Amino acid sequence: LNRRLDGLGTTIFARMTALAAETGAINLGQGFPDTDGPEAVREAAVRALRSGHGNQYPPGPGIPELRQAVAEHQSRFHGLHWDPDSEVLVTAGATEALAAALLALLEPGDEVIAFEPYYDSYTAGIAMAGAVRVPLTLRAPDFRPDLDALRAKVTDRTRMLLLNSPHNPTGMVLSRAEAEAIAELAVERDLLVVTDEVYEHLVFDGEHVPFVSLPGMRDRTVSISSAGKTFSFTGWKVGWVTAAPHLIAAVRTTKQFLTYVSAGPFQYAVAEALRLPDAYFTGLREELRAKRDLLSAGLRDAGFTVHPSAGTYFVTTDIAALGEKDGVAFCLALPERCGVVAVPNAVFHDDEAAGRTQVRFAFCKRPEVLSEAVERLRLLT
Ligand code: PMP
Ligand code: GLN
Repeated sequence: LNRRLDGLGTTIFARMTALAAETGAINLGQGFPDTDGPEAVREAAVRALRSGHGNQYPPGPGIPELRQAVAEHQSRFHGLHWDPDSEVLVTAGATEALAAALLALLEPGDEVIAFEPYYDSYTAGIAMAGAVRVPLTLRAPDFRPDLDALRAKVTDRTRMLLLNSPHNPTGMVLSRAEAEAIAELAVERDLLVVTDEVYEHLVFDGEHVPFVSLPGMRDRTVSISSAGKTFSFTGWKVGWVTAAPHLIAAVRTTKQFLTYVSAGPFQYAVAEALRLPDAYFTGLREELRAKRDLLSAGLRDAGFTVHPSAGTYFVTTDIAALGEKDGVAFCLALPERCGVVAVPNAVFHDDEAAGRTQVRFAFCKRPEVLSEAVERLRLLT
């Protein structure tokens, strides 16, 4: 492995899911739902496969039906208007979109400011591009970004802000005022913005503000989303990028040589999914909200300090109140101790001290699974 990728052996999610499989523990580590998305969407994929739609290379930028559906979805929910031909690009999940955007837009040595704890592929993508990550640490209990600190981190070498709201793993959702302040800074210092909004439909408190909707952002923002979270098909790996034509052209160039294309039949199914009625999207959010509440209350009862999560699949806890000092050691021992898998936030930090006693639990699981996990976690005290 080359030096750029030092320390990036196997992802924490793969490690923790393997540990869950080995020990038979309940997996509240990796964020994937334990029930599939809508039957009609699955059937649409089967229909596409059977009728040979997408079984051979689809067009490089994605099938026109899906690009059109992405544009319509963004218009319906966010009032944003994109040209499906020049401003929408289909990718192999948000993961490829992120890698393609970072590889396309960064020069070696460029600085990228990102919130830490970071979603794991950000560090890898920045490293693969030969760029330098600069953390803006989100601190408990509310994980709000310190906007003065952000301003102070911008240097002449800063090229990009890499944003994520709703934020994995903390569940922080940027307020409109915070997003506006960040957008002003981006204009003032002429920064590119890559914004990961895969949890756009999973905001339980507050509102989702698409970053590109803010003044001055249209020509400098690459927005990323994915069908994984919105339709509960994380294995399909259908994501998309929306941006101004010059940015899409850049990201398309790298995407061509990473995968060229992906998931033909699933693209037809996701095009149908994006056209589901509003009630589907509201229903998904309300279901996840109930699960967030169930797990958060249970963890609190079991003695964890629970930091409120306003969005995503995740809630971050603190284990100091349980007399624990180290989240990594705690998570490695947890399956043996009580049959539950969780993820230590420390692995998403450069400033490990900031996340040392924080542990992330995923609540995108069936209520009975969450209840059983809580029963097991109560054995800790
Ligand atoms: N960004 C964030 C913040 C995530 O939590 C995830 C995990 N789903 C991804 C990107 C990757 O999404 P995908 O599975 O579509 O590649
Ligand atoms: N996004 C998921 C999480 O945060 C994991 C996806 C993956 O394993 N790459 O748990």
